[in-house]
Amino acid sequence: MSAVASPEPAVRAKKKLLRRRRPDRSQALRRIVQCLFAALNVWIGVEFYLFVRHYETGGTSLYVPRPPGVEGWLPIASLMNLKYWLETGEVPAIHPAGMFLLVAFLAISWLLRKSFCSWLCPIGALSEALWRAGRSIFGRNFRLPRWLDFPLRSVKYVLLGLFLYAIGTMSAPAIRAFMESPYGLIADVKMLNFFRYLSVTAAVTLGVLAVASVLLQNFWCRYLCPYGALLGLLSRFSPAYVRREPHLCIDCAKCAQACPSWLPVDQLVSVRSEECIGCMACVAACPAEGALYLSLPRRRRLPAWALAAGIAAIFFAVVSYARWAGYWRTDLPSQVYFELIPRAHEFSHP
Ligand code: SF4
Ligand code: SF4
Repeated sequence: MSAVASPEPAVRAKKKLLRRRRPDRSQALRRIVQCLFAALNVWIGVEFYLFVRHYETGGTSLYVPRPPGVEGWLPIASLMNLKYWLETGEVPAIHPAGMFLLVAFLAISWLLRKSFCSWLCPIGALSEALWRAGRSIFGRNFRLPRWLDFPLRSVKYVLLGLFLYAIGTMSAPAIRAFMESPYGLIADVKMLNFFRYLSVTAAVTLGVLAVASVLLQNFWCRYLCPYGALLGLLSRFSPAYVRREPHLCIDCAKCAQACPSWLPVDQLVSVRSEECIGCMACVAACPAEGALYLSLPRRRRLPAWALAAGIAAIFFAVVSYARWAGYWRTDLPSQVYFELIPRAHEFSHP
């Protein structure tokens, strides 16, 4: 132990800090993007609520068209639709927008690490707000011991495996039948009603998750989110990664302290972990000029604005294609919604 530890002070003493020339603005930019995307989701939520109320009240309340973006909150249906599309070559008619959004988020995670989680996901943004609140209250966030952290981290992969197995064993006709069942047609309404009429069990579960998220950084994302698990696995093949230049690094470990995914950034040359969410908090915390950066192959630097632009470009390209090709909307006659939405509580998972 001492044989490994002893050379460090000598190495540290030799290195001179070359201070950063310009302040890092990546975290301010990330917060703006997070807020914009959260606002977009709130807007979609309000529109969808008004849409549902219109049909619940028999058409007496204000009519607002159904926002297709609400399907982004149907990750399992989106995954089923993706399988259907890949297997049949036919774009599904029910909830296609969710599938295109999933494709956009998969592409972002493949090309730009798991940046969807730290730049776009509203749950990720809420998680971050909660652990920051916890840090203000307690002066720190807590960490689970390694023996507990490691097995808990595998829970999200187990959940992902279960979903992939269930969807993988469904045939294309079975997926189509599911989507065209009353439950499938209004899966988005069922999801909204889940939050509108929270059961005691669901409320207690959400409360426990909220408390855990205040105490531990990104509790939901780190241990439980199967969506993040899928994106993380894809991000292993990403050309973008955080890179440390050991000759410029002064071994201050500020990057590792800033990392919400608890990665030992100060001990790595390239960070390729599936837990890296591409937040650039480590880069922002580094005081040494050029020591730490988001890198593309051949050490080409990817500044925060380019990362944000890349995320936006992929997102808008996929959404624009789906709209242009006429695949964006689920076109159901109003009569279907008049019949199904007021009776939504009658339909359970087939
Ligand atoms: S390594 Fe850097 S970019 Fe990756 S999660 Fe940690 S702080 Fe964020
Ligand atoms: S923050 Fe990390 S990369 Fe930057 S100088 Fe300190 S240890 Fe090195």
